[in-house]
Amino acid sequence: MPYLDLIPASGIRKIFDRASELEGQGKRILHLEIGRPDFDSPSSAKAAVMTALNEGRVHYTENRGIPKLRRLIAEKLRDDNNLHYDPESEIVVTNGTSEGVAMAMAALAGPGDEVIVPTPSWSHYVSCATLFGATPVELALKADNDYQLTREAVEKLVSERTRVLVVNTPNNPSGAVYPEKELRSILELCLERSIYILSDEIYDYFCFGGERHVSIAALPNAKPICVVANGFSKTYSMTGWRLGYVASSAEIAAKLNKAHQYLTVCANSFAQHGACAALADDEGRQFLEKMTESFERRWRITNQLLSEIKCLRLPRSAGAFYAFPSFDYKGMSADQLCAYLLEEGGVATVPGTAFGEAHKDAFRIAYSVNETELAEALTIIKNLLA
Ligand code: PMP
Repeated sequence: MPYLDLIPASGIRKIFDRASELEGQGKRILHLEIGRPDFDSPSSAKAAVMTALNEGRVHYTENRGIPKLRRLIAEKLRDDNNLHYDPESEIVVTNGTSEGVAMAMAALAGPGDEVIVPTPSWSHYVSCATLFGATPVELALKADNDYQLTREAVEKLVSERTRVLVVNTPNNPSGAVYPEKELRSILELCLERSIYILSDEIYDYFCFGGERHVSIAALPNAKPICVVANGFSKTYSMTGWRLGYVASSAEIAAKLNKAHQYLTVCANSFAQHGACAALADDEGRQFLEKMTESFERRWRITNQLLSEIKCLRLPRSAGAFYAFPSFDYKGMSADQLCAYLLEEGGVATVPGTAFGEAHKDAFRIAYSVNETELAEALTIIKNLLA
């Protein structure tokens, strides 16, 4: 049987399809289910793509990505994340962070190996571990503890077969940002037990309320056991460009690159040239500042309005662009609640179960719509759940 058959259909897809169906019938839908920024990509990046196309940069590139982009990524990792990677041998440009995650699973785990996935989580980790024959082990984090990952919780699930721990901070869908102290402790455990860490840092710039992103891979002794996955989708609102990257020791990077060669050969050539402009130009930096400021305002609006709804409990969140409230409403399951909000209020959200079986009493709100629509959608939710 193909490993693919073990993977359930995406829980987000169901809501998405129903929302589209309702829109097709002429109903207005407010989209709080989509995990992508609503900004255009930086214009300097778009212009650089046009130039690359006009210059005929339409062929395969180096498997690992064009040298200029790898150099700029190494600089970004050094300056913003305190991570030190050699662009020649330790960085691979990927087709989105999604491919980076798949490559890491292919390189680090296989049949007989266990991958610990703290949930709620983006479903890709469980799916990719399964796809490459490994066994995902879900670690259900608790709303009571604001969905924080702790060494103690990880330790309970570690076995002789544990090969990889997934760490995603700032987190999709909980919005949790993990503090350095706990990351240090988790790293120690992984070093003691020879467990690799896949650190997905795609929301690294989306930290609010004075919170700061710490990369677990930047902590002492971490490098040999870590793969950092990041990308351009969220940082520069470039989800459709399909560009990301992975960084690791040269030894692991060689394996990642091998997976990359067989999965996709290389990332899109002209998109890579565009991404160089996003990283190199002041405009890219200004764009990022403007966008994250806007998301910080939305984070405040979301926290404020959700805290006014009595049947919800909102764990503390400080990053990404999601809220993951738990609810107690007329005995409804998460599927039922999200269907109710969509059918009755035209507000699309995602049931917690899309992020792990255990999360039946929670749902995800993505505040990646403008402030007016956000306030309108949250007020509709408030009125429906009054
Ligand atoms: N990591 C996380 C935590 C995500 O939420 C997402 C997008 N939903 C991705 C990676 C995928 O990013 P990309 O578009 O770069 O493949």
